[in-house]
Amino acid sequence: MKPNTHARRGFTLIELLVVIAIVAALVAILLPALSSVRSTGRLVVCVSNIRQQGIAIAAYANESRERLPPKYIHLTEYDRDGEIASGPWLINAYMAKWAGEEFPTRFEGWSHPTGMWRCPEVRMEADGERLTHNGVLHHAPNGWLFSSVVENRVNGSLFVSNQAHAGWDQRYAQSDWRRVDSVRRADAVIMLMDNVSSWEAAHNHHDAREFFEAGCEAVKVDNECGTQKIGSHDRLSRRPASFVDGHAAGVPSEGEYWFDEQSMYAPPGQASGPTLWRRDVEHLVWYAEPHSGGGPEEYRTPRRKQPRRP
Ligand SMILES: [Zn+2]
Ligand SMILES: [Zn+2]
Repeated sequence: MKPNTHARRGFTLIELLVVIAIVAALVAILLPALSSVRSTGRLVVCVSNIRQQGIAIAAYANESRERLPPKYIHLTEYDRDGEIASGPWLINAYMAKWAGEEFPTRFEGWSHPTGMWRCPEVRMEADGERLTHNGVLHHAPNGWLFSSVVENRVNGSLFVSNQAHAGWDQRYAQSDWRRVDSVRRADAVIMLMDNVSSWEAAHNHHDAREFFEAGCEAVKVDNECGTQKIGSHDRLSRRPASFVDGHAAGVPSEGEYWFDEQSMYAPPGQASGPTLWRRDVEHLVWYAEPHSGGGPEEYRTPRRKQPRRP
């Protein structure tokens, strides 16, 4: 049989250079698209995470006679050794403990949220993991929707405050819990939203917000307050948000979306109210029907580990 002497010819240098040029061109064309796909993927994951957090809050309310959990708790109690220990809880740590998930807090040292409590775009170099003064919060609660709690188990005091805007505090008793079933536009009012952070020179670290309130807290670039803020999904101009009715979406983060229309808004029975933007009213204000009763009886302090003693 005739041997196969037809050896395969290798690439010439010119052919190799052409191939390299084509590959480089393809990479240049495809990389931005791939990067965009990854950005979109992270947004989808973040929306999914914040939706799960919203569902956890809805489950909490369902088991707590429609009362929403507090957005902030300052708890003072005796520790295992009989010494007085006190510290703050933010809503994410509180809800994680309530749901039976591990979520180390400041009591046990600084740590970073994982799983559904984490925004997949948060990076240390970008915004310092969004440190708050009470922990790390990747998704901040609507400050007008949730109550705050100061509980001192040593002297037995319990104080619930609603930090609603202006007259909204006066409309409802200070001791009232926010009730999820009294929110008038459950599909429009935001419960949680992806957090922003800004560099605070005086503090020498990036600060996130422990809760957001007015529109100036809601957008990444805050012309009203003159501060440049960092949002995770800036590239896509979206901020994931979960709503009272349980759905979640990426709402626009541009100032135009939030600052489109100025309006005077006052609780019924008040002559004048605070100046709010339309989206503030739609998304943030506790836009609720009056209700009666409702005491601070259903909030459950999550179990916390005692601080490790040296
Ligand atoms: Zn996010
Ligand atoms: Zn600070």
